Amino acid sequence: MLPVIPRVGDFLNSSQRPLHVSKKSDQTLKLLDKVSTGWPAPEKLESANLLEQGLYAILRRTLEPAHAATVVAALRANYSDWNELRVAQAQEICSHLDIPEKLKLDAARATKEYLQEVFQRSHGLELEFLRDDQQSAARFVSILPYIGLGTAHWLMWLASAEKEVPVTQGLVRVLDRLGLIARNSSSKKMRAAIDPLVPDGREVDFLLRFGEVGSRWCDARKPACYACPLVDDCRYGKKAFREWQVQQKRLEQQRVRDEARRAILAKKDEEKRKKEDEKRRREEERVAQKRAAADARKRRETERLARIEAKKRETEAKAKAKLEAAKKAAELEVKRKADAEAKRLAAQKEAEKLAAKKKLADARAAEKKALAEKKAAEKKALAEKKAAEKKAAELKAAQAKLAAKKAAEKAAAEKKEAARKAAEKKAAEKKAAAAKAKSAPKAKPAAKPAAKAKASKAKNGRR
Ligand code: SF4
Repeated sequence: MLPVIPRVGDFLNSSQRPLHVSKKSDQTLKLLDKVSTGWPAPEKLESANLLEQGLYAILRRTLEPAHAATVVAALRANYSDWNELRVAQAQEICSHLDIPEKLKLDAARATKEYLQEVFQRSHGLELEFLRDDQQSAARFVSILPYIGLGTAHWLMWLASAEKEVPVTQGLVRVLDRLGLIARNSSSKKMRAAIDPLVPDGREVDFLLRFGEVGSRWCDARKPACYACPLVDDCRYGKKAFREWQVQQKRLEQQRVRDEARRAILAKKDEEKRKKEDEKRRREEERVAQKRAAADARKRRETERLARIEAKKRETEAKAKAKLEAAKKAAELEVKRKADAEAKRLAAQKEAEKLAAKKKLADARAAEKKALAEKKAAEKKALAEKKAAEKKAAELKAAQAKLAAKKAAEKAAAEKKEAARKAAEKKAAEKKAAAAKAKSAPKAKPAAKPAAKAKASKAKNGRR
């Protein structure tokens, strides 16, 4: 189903078409040629309500007529409730569209945005009130940032049974500022003033292009005349543009002054930053020097401690070596002393052994000598005793002989003499006893060697 491109003339008979051959009509044609909506004029979609006509007009901004009609048909078939379509995800909407893949997402987003704005501005999702409710229609078209006044004019024109050009505040404002009509509170007078301006066969262009001028630039409070393509032909716009230029000039001067002030401030900031950078650099340099000095001190201290440690280790090594040498020497000395002591003890033992042997030999010799001396003394005493006994015997024998002789000589005669002789004999015997006693001490020297040997033995025992 291809859409049919409507024309205003299709809805008007030749008797109803006004014939405007005036300066304002020529001016209107000239102005229309200067305005470009950026998209083609929408066509009327057969068997579609106003909401669908509006959706089709929105889709026609980016899609060809066949694709736009396909999208409207697909959405109508898949979503019985337009609100369900309004809140649906764009990806989900894309899944129902049978158009080139690269166009789907833009079409889905445009659909959602269109429905969202209709919902916000009319609190519903139908536009049939445009047919018979002029107040609601005027309120609806007053603010339509996405749909735009041109598309709204197109829908109102479709809604009009007589196919009359809608007289909206936006259209009146634009035409009034352009000097094509004089604003009036009477809608009938306004329509009477506007109708003659509509070029034959370009009614849709008239509605769309002046509607877009009203939406894009000719704001009721702050018109953007400086950007409006009609500014050169607009009395209001020229004045507003001059004021805008003056304002821009002032703003430019202010901008230049602000720029100069900002440059001065930037220069001051730059100088301040440079000073701070220099200060920071000097501080960093000072810190670096301080750190380097500290590192050098630390390095020197480390080297000094290393030298001390090395010296200490060397001293300890020397001391240890010395100690080891002393210990070794002590051990050698102890060993030497032990050897010497062992030798001395051995020598002493040998000497003692020899001394004991000698002592034993001496003792034996002394004992032998004493024994010999004793034997000699005993032999001598025995000899002297024998000699004394022999002498005593001889003396006795001599005395007996003498006595016998005297007895014999003096005879028993003299008894007195005999007694005297007996006394003399007793004296002679006493003398012999004394002589015997005198001879006994001569045997004592033989006992002396034995005593001497006994004393020597006692002396050796103490040693
Ligand atoms: S120049 Fe200014 S006042 Fe005139 S139509 Fe354009 S926006 Fe409106």
